[in-house]
Amino acid sequence: MEFSSKLLERAVNEMSQLPGIGKRTALRLVLHMLRQPKEQTIGLAEALQNMRHEVKFCKSCHNISDVALCEICSNPNRNEEVVCVVEDIRDVMAIENTSSFKGLYHVLGGKISPMDGIGPHDLNIESLVTKVSKGEVKELIFALSSTMEGDTTNFYIFKRIQDFGIITSTIARGISVGDELEYADEITLGRSIVNRIPFESSIKI
Ligand SMILES: [Zn+2]
Repeated sequence: MEFSSKLLERAVNEMSQLPGIGKRTALRLVLHMLRQPKEQTIGLAEALQNMRHEVKFCKSCHNISDVALCEICSNPNRNEEVVCVVEDIRDVMAIENTSSFKGLYHVLGGKISPMDGIGPHDLNIESLVTKVSKGEVKELIFALSSTMEGDTTNFYIFKRIQDFGIITSTIARGISVGDELEYADEITLGRSIVNRIPFESSIKI
């Protein structure tokens, strides 16, 4: 792609680094920005810059937050003894949308995936084990996607916390195997949390 302007070229190159955005789409977006009022593009740039500089991860659940302890963790009406283990913030958003869960979350930041070089130490697992070992948690609900990586991660965590004698459960699979939580409809996902099943009955040990 030949550009008449280095400034334009750089903007297109940066934009095309985003997932799912090829060079042509990037060019279309950049040209759109040149047509819209300057303030709008500057607003977008500022929002992105502020997000990168100021966004924090909750020190307890690792959810994305504007403050050190996120709104969910600091809410006195939530049941801190029930913790739902999820892969990332999109799952927190999906489950929160169901209004069916009043416990806290623990965001792992991914799943164990040897194929992608992601091991247990790349995820927020130690802090979860610590939380459980301190007796702060009575029930852990596994709500990872039902893929091989999700199952491996559940099982790894289960093994690590098995001896602490807490209840472990997994969301009921109205959600079919391989489905990402994000795509489940609110009613199905809400029900699958309410009707969760003991983790041991979901696996063959
Ligand atoms: Zn939190």
